Amino acid sequence: MSDERELLSRTAELAADFLDTLDKRPVWPLASMEELRHILGGSLPDEPTDPARVIEELAQDVEPGITAIPGGRYFGFVTGGTLPAALAADWLTSAWDQNAFLAVSSPAAAVIEEVAGEWLKELLGVPAQASFAFVTGCQMAHVTCLATARHAVLERAGWDVARDGLWSAPRIRVVAGAMRHVTIDRALRLLGLGTGSLVEVAADEHGRMRADALAEVLAELKGPVIVCAQAGEVNTGAFDPLPEIADLAQAGGSWLHIDCAFGIWAAASPTLRHLVAGHERADSWAFDAHKWLNVPYDCGVAMCAHPVPHRTAMTMQAAYLKSKETGRDGSDWGPDSSRRSRGVTVYAALRSLGRRGVADLVDQCCARAQEFAAQISKLPGCTILNDVEINQVLFRFADDETTNTVLSHVQASGEAWMGSTTWDGRAAIRVSVSNWRTTEADIERTVAAFERALAAVAS
Ligand SMILES: *Cc1c(COP(=O)(O)O)cnc(C)c1O
Repeated sequence: MSDERELLSRTAELAADFLDTLDKRPVWPLASMEELRHILGGSLPDEPTDPARVIEELAQDVEPGITAIPGGRYFGFVTGGTLPAALAADWLTSAWDQNAFLAVSSPAAAVIEEVAGEWLKELLGVPAQASFAFVTGCQMAHVTCLATARHAVLERAGWDVARDGLWSAPRIRVVAGAMRHVTIDRALRLLGLGTGSLVEVAADEHGRMRADALAEVLAELKGPVIVCAQAGEVNTGAFDPLPEIADLAQAGGSWLHIDCAFGIWAAASPTLRHLVAGHERADSWAFDAHKWLNVPYDCGVAMCAHPVPHRTAMTMQAAYLKSKETGRDGSDWGPDSSRRSRGVTVYAALRSLGRRGVADLVDQCCARAQEFAAQISKLPGCTILNDVEINQVLFRFADDETTNTVLSHVQASGEAWMGSTTWDGRAAIRVSVSNWRTTEADIERTVAAFERALAAVAS
């Protein structure tokens, strides 16, 4: 075997060995940052090191600092695992090293992304004419969609933002719910709209934007307006009332953007689809593949119902960049120039699961969330704070101190990991079940860890 072949085979073995440890290893790693700096740091080497040795030592050295995110008992944030086909496709993506910016640089990358985008639209109920981009995550999907929205609403107001920028442009107001995700605010800062352009709409006790409050806000606003709705609140999983929001946005002629980072996957499930009804009326959608579709980092998707402003806002043109092929140039639709072909893992994930498999993945995560809620709620002092409609469970114990101490115990036990939040001004614990690997046994083990933690705190 050539050295390179041997290295890659060995690497595959190391990766598989790592995956084998997922059930046994502590979910939160044991090593401190200081210990890891000690192991991994040191001065920049002057001389080369054999690649096989680099990889062997790398795998060994990071071992005590790796979080078991791909395992079945990591419930932090909204994260997701990795499907086998998606992981393997990710390795091939690196081996192929295709630059997915132009069709002329890689016909295969251009076509695979074209297909993956079409499949996503069909699966998720996004209108067939929508344009799309594969980006790093929902954050950059917001930037892409809101750059398009900015272009479109200013064009309607007679202003060419692509040429003239925002100096002296009509003021855009961005209307969003009080429980919007923080990435919306950052997108507004990056786009020169500023968080001062935000007009906040009150949310109900589940974190949903209130349609009656939106109506009042919109009635007061003049000039270009972008409405940002949310499908899937990060704590509760709640969906904004999309049909009412779409009616109001349409009546006022504003652009409707939906942050549906993980919530849009409900559309792939016949039993949950009703939760996102109305989302097909949006002007743009931002969501992730690296969360609920379980592809590796990083992969988010931006979609726009209006390909013309989308392309105008994002395109990059120079004489030497002309595609001879009549292919889809990725750089026309997203903020990147050179980039990896992120659509490959999406293609592999969708092909390996099929329509039925995606529905099963979504339904299965929601069933596990239900099981968790049912079991944890039996523990003394536990209150479930949300309607467990999808994959999120928000709960707390009798008082803030118990909630925080019990959570710290569970995190330190290595049995499971999830984070905390503040809800209604008090401490709460968030569980997100977004990984195909999470089994009923994982849920039972996690609840048992809480039971032990409560007993330890009580004694
Ligand atoms: C995770 C999340 C985001 C940000 O997505 P990234 O992939 O981290 O960029 C935005 N909105 C919601 C609702 C999310 O859950």
